[in-house]
Amino acid sequence: KSKQNGKNRFHFYAREMQSDALKRMQIEADLRAALAQSEFTLEYQPIVAADSGELFGAEALIRWLHPERGAVAPADFVPVAEDSGLIVPIGTWVLREAVRQMHEWNQRGHVLPHLAVNVSGVQFRDPALPALIADVLDDHAVASGALTLEICESVMVDANSATEMRMRALKELGVDYSLDDFGTGFSSLSYLKRFPVDIVKIDRSFVRDCPDDRSDAHLVEAIINMAHSLDLKVVAEGVETQAQADFLRELECDYLQGYLISRPLRAEAFEALLAPGRGFRGELAMAG
Ligand code: C2E
Ligand code: MG
Ligand code: MG
Ligand code: MG
Repeated sequence: KSKQNGKNRFHFYAREMQSDALKRMQIEADLRAALAQSEFTLEYQPIVAADSGELFGAEALIRWLHPERGAVAPADFVPVAEDSGLIVPIGTWVLREAVRQMHEWNQRGHVLPHLAVNVSGVQFRDPALPALIADVLDDHAVASGALTLEICESVMVDANSATEMRMRALKELGVDYSLDDFGTGFSSLSYLKRFPVDIVKIDRSFVRDCPDDRSDAHLVEAIINMAHSLDLKVVAEGVETQAQADFLRELECDYLQGYLISRPLRAEAFEALLAPGRGFRGELAMAG
């Protein structure tokens, strides 16, 4: 994958450095420093009910402010973090920070019902993950039902029985699973039946050309119907236009996420959305 995208990847690092390998090494070294020097933050992107505009939850998204290079996009460093194994300590930080933030909001009476955290496949295969999650939830007295782990299909495709057991153990702890970027990997109905998934997130590449592109529109419709027949909820990612939102609502997609509703926000800005009665009804022209 990195070879294919080699031209536009690591563009923050592209100018001075000759080879991809050199860039990767530099990013890796910088990521180690970033962990030590707390250069990461999280942003929170709202996820709303498609029918009412009510806030359902949020997705936590990592941000890296490099002291010299400025903001580096996750697409430019998450793959390097995965290859080097650094995604494990970075992912630990993300989980702790996300749950800490949820606890802080709770304490101020601003309850966020669901917070989704991206968990890389590498991190998911770490046997220490269940203990970490139990510990983090316990530290902050946050109900496990409020935490959703966003995993991608590869976690289930590569699953050995240990991974499957880990997934079930965490499920028993009360966390939910959301299947990220659905449709881009080796999606299979049998995985959806075999693993305890709760939510399917339709990848934004399928949402982008809806409703005009008939084949994408049909694909999105098929995913929603299939998910519902398996008793799963559906989030559409990358909703940018009112026409997309209307189309998705018509198909009874459960939740919407995307720039139409809101860009990812810093914690302080997000907190304003948690005030009682605050929904997105006004912003989204809700049907009916
Ligand atoms: P993702 O999990 O699929 O996250 C959704 C991405 O789509 C985010 O990009 C978000 O900012 C972007 N997005 C949301 N709405 C729209 C929209 O309407 N239009 C467009 N064009 N984009 C939209 P971001 O923050 O750059 O993250 C990219 C990817 O990096 C994520 O994709 C996820 O795979 C990974 N990532 C982000 N944070 C973390 C993290 O904490 N841990 C791990 N392991 N991966 C992360
Ligand atoms: Mg995600
Ligand atoms: Mg996604
Ligand atoms: Mg995606």
